[in-house]
Amino acid sequence: MIEQTRQRGRTGQAGPEHRVVIVGAGMAGVQTAVALRERGFEGPVTLLGEELHPPYDRPPLSKAVLLGKADGSAFDIDFDGLGVALRLGVRASGLRPADRELDTSAGPFPYDTLVLATGAEPIGLPGTEGAPGVHVLRTLDDAAGLRGVLAGQRDVVVVGAGWIGAEFATAAREAGCAVTVVEAADRPLAGTLPAEVAAPMAAWYAEAGAELRTGARVARVEPGAVVLGDGARLSADAVVVGIGARAATGWLAGSGIGLGTHGEIAADASLRTTLPGVYAAGDCASYPSRRSGERLLVHHWDNALQAPRTVAANIVGEAPATYDPVPYFWSEQFGRFVQYAGHHTPADTLLWRGDPAEPSWTVCWLRDSRLTATLTVGRPRDLTQSRKLIATATPMNPTTLPNPTIPLKSATL
Ligand code: FAD
Repeated sequence: MIEQTRQRGRTGQAGPEHRVVIVGAGMAGVQTAVALRERGFEGPVTLLGEELHPPYDRPPLSKAVLLGKADGSAFDIDFDGLGVALRLGVRASGLRPADRELDTSAGPFPYDTLVLATGAEPIGLPGTEGAPGVHVLRTLDDAAGLRGVLAGQRDVVVVGAGWIGAEFATAAREAGCAVTVVEAADRPLAGTLPAEVAAPMAAWYAEAGAELRTGARVARVEPGAVVLGDGARLSADAVVVGIGARAATGWLAGSGIGLGTHGEIAADASLRTTLPGVYAAGDCASYPSRRSGERLLVHHWDNALQAPRTVAANIVGEAPATYDPVPYFWSEQFGRFVQYAGHHTPADTLLWRGDPAEPSWTVCWLRDSRLTATLTVGRPRDLTQSRKLIATATPMNPTTLPNPTIPLKSATL
């Protein structure tokens, strides 16, 4: 009875002795701590992070930090002032849910509520992990290492024409490197966008002076070269692998936590995991989206910003909070500002707003006359309006929607 009161308080709210431990001091972990205090949570909050750097933001790593325009991207947060015990250089190694204890490199941490926010880890190119000259781009240390490559204006081979590959290629060209991008699929962003949308984006590589080789597989990496499956040899002082990331959940093996099909933590609509008192947010977790009709695993910044608010609301016992935002992300590549809101499937109807040969254009996906997603290039107003139109499931007029001179918010039925 006493234990129950300590854990949830008399009103069902977490009381002042209720211990919250957050694992992972990236965007999602940090925002969970902040959101708890914003909601008046008074219990002890401990934030554990494996990295030694003060918590920082990742998007600038492939942009300003890489180019030396910013030294870092640390969050401007006073953890002491917030009463958050920040423990850096501490790695969680196991979870014993029956004891409500977390095992770490600094010993066990008991918790009443645990929040998992361990993010994601880059997928390595098989056989090349740790090889000299082979890089990934996930951490501040990775970016610091790659700054040297850019400063030396070396020959760079980028493996993977996804978001990270495109942003790295952009920075490397800007720095004066010779850049070849090797992509196994027949186009950039093949896992995200259909061929007709990716086609104009593929042209951006050549325009920036980067060579894009699609349908090309890396056979092996040798000192100073990448050898492709067809025998082609590409000069490479550095190789940057950007072929995706997977949720950092390996350390949870044996905990009994429910995982999704990609090895991520399968949270419910309130971001609770299958273990009592354990939540998950950010890149490490998927959630069921009623809006999209499927479980979503979102590896983007906005998700790591917003999901913690739902977690914190549930911990403090606000009216049951569920999580189902309109997903959003942006990318800055080849001098363009690319934004995407929503979630489309190949079955949705695609409509263009504007000409992809022009500097700015928009693509909309519709299902039953309603927007499911929008991709904008240099049209932030379309993005902002479509985010609202998706959220409100407003029926759209397919005749006026393609006209880029008509505001999207006016192209409704
Ligand atoms: P992370 O930021 O990965 O933080 C997780 C933290 O947990 C890490 O510090 C990790 O060291 C720590 N950790 C992991 N395991 C353990 C453990 N066992 N014990 C203790 N600590 C642990 N998104 C966009 O929308 N737009 C962009 O332009 C954009 N640019 C990006 C550029 C780069 C280079 C990268 C890498 C990502 C970018 N993203 C972008 C994605 C966005 O940054 C991520 O979605 C976001 O950082 C996810 O936050 P997170 O807190 O869930 O995970």
